Amino acid sequence: MAEEPVKDYVLPDLPYAYNALEPYIDEATMRLHHDKHHAAYVAGANAALAKLEEARKNGNFDSIRALSGALAFHASGHVLHSLFWTGLCPHDQSQEPKTGAFLAQVSKDFGSVDLLKKQLGAAAKAVEGSGWAMLAWEPTAKKLIVLQVENHQKLSVQGAVPLFVLDVWEHAYYIKYQNKRADYVDNLWNIVKWREVETRFESASKK
Ligand code: MN
Repeated sequence: MAEEPVKDYVLPDLPYAYNALEPYIDEATMRLHHDKHHAAYVAGANAALAKLEEARKNGNFDSIRALSGALAFHASGHVLHSLFWTGLCPHDQSQEPKTGAFLAQVSKDFGSVDLLKKQLGAAAKAVEGSGWAMLAWEPTAKKLIVLQVENHQKLSVQGAVPLFVLDVWEHAYYIKYQNKRADYVDNLWNIVKWREVETRFESASKK
């Protein structure tokens, strides 16, 4: 029997139960979102890499545009979903920063945590079509910035390190919220794992 090839990308387990983010994100959404949608991006990224390997073997790069695009889309989808899960936590574990280096940087770049939340929330609500809002560390200017992301990979600032991401694809909220994306975004503030955002900031800003 042939051995399974080693997969470059692997679907991570959720760091909590499927119903842990209730009532803000419902269990049915979490099951579909993680087990079907995120899994499909992992499979898509691995498939793109396998097809690129085949292209090199065959010396045939006729599909290079499609394959490069598929790799960017699916691998970015995998990276962002992995960040999304770990950036959230049950409501009783969500605690806004009251002190520390991250809070100091937020105050410098946005004025306050409240203004950061307002900008990030506005960005999320206004994404055109499917996409994300992102808080990122921009190492060239050494600043925190808020970005919108279309699909999983468009509108990036190259080199910026994502610290916290909000998924505003319809699959992230439609079962519970239908078309009310704004209500979903407003509710997400109840389940942000700020401690994780701070840890990522400390690691990214040290480099
Ligand atoms: Mn998603």
